[in-house]
Amino acid sequence: MFGHAAFQGRQQAIIDRTLAGGHSLVLMPTGGGKSLCYQLPAVMQEGLTVVLSPLIALMKDQVDALTSRGIDAGFINSSLNKQERQARLAALAAGSYKLLYVTPERFQKTDFCDMIGRRPISLLAIDEAHCVSQWGHDFRPDYTRVGDIRRLLGSPTTIALTATATRAVQQDIIHQLGLGPDEVELFHEGIDRPNLTLAVEEVWGEEDKLRRLREILATDAIAREQASGSHIIYFTLIKTLDRFSRLLEAEGLPHGCYHGGLSAAERRRMQEAFLAGEQRLMLATNAFGMGIDKPDIRTVTHAEVPGSLESYYQEIGRAGRDGLPSRCTLLYDQNDLPMLMEFLRWANPEADFYRRVYHGLEHDLERINAFGLDWFNEQLVGRQAHHDRRLDSAILMLERYGTIARGSNAVGDRRLIELLGELPPSLADDADRAAKLRRDQEKLLAMVEYARWEDDRRTFLETYFLGDPPADA
Ligand code: ADP
Repeated sequence: MFGHAAFQGRQQAIIDRTLAGGHSLVLMPTGGGKSLCYQLPAVMQEGLTVVLSPLIALMKDQVDALTSRGIDAGFINSSLNKQERQARLAALAAGSYKLLYVTPERFQKTDFCDMIGRRPISLLAIDEAHCVSQWGHDFRPDYTRVGDIRRLLGSPTTIALTATATRAVQQDIIHQLGLGPDEVELFHEGIDRPNLTLAVEEVWGEEDKLRRLREILATDAIAREQASGSHIIYFTLIKTLDRFSRLLEAEGLPHGCYHGGLSAAERRRMQEAFLAGEQRLMLATNAFGMGIDKPDIRTVTHAEVPGSLESYYQEIGRAGRDGLPSRCTLLYDQNDLPMLMEFLRWANPEADFYRRVYHGLEHDLERINAFGLDWFNEQLVGRQAHHDRRLDSAILMLERYGTIARGSNAVGDRRLIELLGELPPSLADDADRAAKLRRDQEKLLAMVEYARWEDDRRTFLETYFLGDPPADA
């Protein structure tokens, strides 16, 4: 049914345990074959398998892949219109679907909870499980409801899967699920991707960086017509990305750009051009990546040091999914550090800033929606507004917490804000915010330590993610 001749890695052990009703936490490198670990038990068992995923954009692809194999799978999320959602809810109630993909947010809807409550659940699979933990690099507040969701589903057999989780994150995942450490078996396959070459090169200033980028790209001769494969260059700041885009353009190097400053339509166009191989070099911020399941990415280069090893590992994980040699290069310029520290401050607004943003939203929403976020930012921080990006971070966080929603009433390209709830206590708490900033600073430090590491980088990564070297990988 899945067309594989044999299991790979520890898939069989994981599947056996799941079929026997045991809970598992699976850490497998990207491309390692995590999906099979829950998809096979799903089709072998009587009841329904619920797959929690934070990534709406990927659900359709996953479901299409399953249905093309004759497996009864579906998804319900906010990308569907009301009619489609209701049709799927009815199908769910009528006993359709072996696998149902949903976001945790779906469990806030009573009609959905009613329907799903009527189905016997054989398995709960939690994809991208690191999102559960605020210690992780992609915390999704919605995901912290997994414990309640699991109970609502009747505490079924549970499998949590991720490519990256430090020890602290692993413990947090188990805790959030409401399970004890002894109830969950940890399967980790190490995190090594043998076909990736991990390089760090120290550079001095922008010219040096540009020279190295040119060399990296030239070795694969991206400009040559017969060359194949794709390439990503990651930047931390949109500003730097734009500057390098102009420099590369001046040299006649064709490329696309992808970052949060572009409209959704432009981003989609870029992503499609990249996936289709029409645009083989992408300059991107970390906004680019989810759904980039392209097998032949030959180089992933970081022109600026990313904020954490978790992000770094996730981003280089997109290289070489076809198993062929691929090169990941981190260009390390120690002069970037002050900028990176400042970037962390923008990414972590203080509690007081959150309180002021919330106050503004409460009392001035009409004008904010009429004049836009740049205007709101000016009201908040005055003339420094164009330097100060805290508002972007605050809005993103409030959206993740479900305090606000954006998008249902777009005016042109601007998405109107709707205020839905209270300011979450954790965002208004000085100590919480300070602790979060400190943690982010420590992560950046670990990243810098990696950049300066002269010994084996793989060992460094293994130790960072897994504590001790894996026992039996
Ligand atoms: P992950 O979610 O861990 O990144 P996927 O589950 O998407 O990885 O699997 C990555 C690729 O490996 C897919 O193309 C999948 O079909 C393939 N794959 C999974 N298990 C096996 C197997 N046992 N044998 C061969 N290919 C496999």
